[in-house]
Amino acid sequence: MTRLLYMDSIDACYARSFEATVQEARPDWLLLDQTLFYPLGGGQNWDTGTLETEDGAVLAVSEVTKRGPVKHVVGADHGLEAGARLRGTIDWDRRHAHMRMHTAQHLVSGIAYELFGGARTVGNQIHHDRSRIDLNPVRFTPEMLSDLAAAANAEVRAARPVEAVTMTRGEVNALMPEDRTNMDLLPKSVQELRVIRIGDDLDLCPCAGTHVRNTREIGEIEILRTKGKGKGTQRVEYTLDGLGDA
Ligand SMILES: [Zn+2]
Repeated sequence: MTRLLYMDSIDACYARSFEATVQEARPDWLLLDQTLFYPLGGGQNWDTGTLETEDGAVLAVSEVTKRGPVKHVVGADHGLEAGARLRGTIDWDRRHAHMRMHTAQHLVSGIAYELFGGARTVGNQIHHDRSRIDLNPVRFTPEMLSDLAAAANAEVRAARPVEAVTMTRGEVNALMPEDRTNMDLLPKSVQELRVIRIGDDLDLCPCAGTHVRNTREIGEIEILRTKGKGKGTQRVEYTLDGLGDA
């Protein structure tokens, strides 16, 4: 089981390099004892970066997956075996864009639920240049979209702190409706959760993703467009200040 170093706290999401030992080496992927690389999942894209061997060879990490174990996809012919020591470095610009985008998603999802009569988040995709949230049930008018952007950007400017805390199901459910946090979709066997808290319970949501320390760091949120997805679901696409034309 690979230890996921970015899970420990919000501060841990800001670390850029780490040491690790290879646990299993295959021609095109490596399993490590610990990692800072975020694997594709929970709607968030993977980190890219490099793994440097003790001999100074630098392997590019092109993809990180977690269908079962966390696999760092590298080019073949790396020549590594279990036990090899590596120094990993993540691509910080991409990671930081994902952090800003993911905290923005929690903020927009929480506000949409409150503004639009319990519209719940039924899907999301976090990318480094533009991201999307699927909400249901909702039918946006231009006025609703400008209200949503205005309310979210007011919370960005209000510089709310963001924390990763461990809570029980009962504690989360006492503070937020289960359909707002999607707690009703989590297996009942999961009792302790890593929860991302924005401000003074402005938003609370179980999440294993990477996030910024303060809403101010998100920057201006710009809603780009909406798209009907059928059965009362509408998709909101957004970008952030400085990321849109990447
Ligand atoms: Zn999340």
